[in-house]
Amino acid sequence: MSNENPPRTPRTPRTPRSVYRFGTWTLTPDREPDAEPVTYAMQCAVCEERSAPGEDPAAAQAWTFRHAGRNPSHHTYREVITRPWRTWMA
Ligand SMILES: [Zn+2]
Repeated sequence: MSNENPPRTPRTPRTPRSVYRFGTWTLTPDREPDAEPVTYAMQCAVCEERSAPGEDPAAAQAWTFRHAGRNPSHHTYREVITRPWRTWMA
């Protein structure tokens, strides 16, 4: 298995704000202690099969090697990151 690169640290998304009739809403990544975890999965772009989501991106990347081993013609994948966000009105 060739997996020499350390997991990437996701960049922090910007914090958008929108003004609606009743106030200003703010949207930001949820980093509260009770927030859902950021999860990583990999999906095969050939057959759409997807790894189970998990908090360790290396585990999702390892899935691609197992999948490619079982399906030698499947060479392209998508990384699927699920990040919790929260909104509040200022
Ligand atoms: Zn596949």
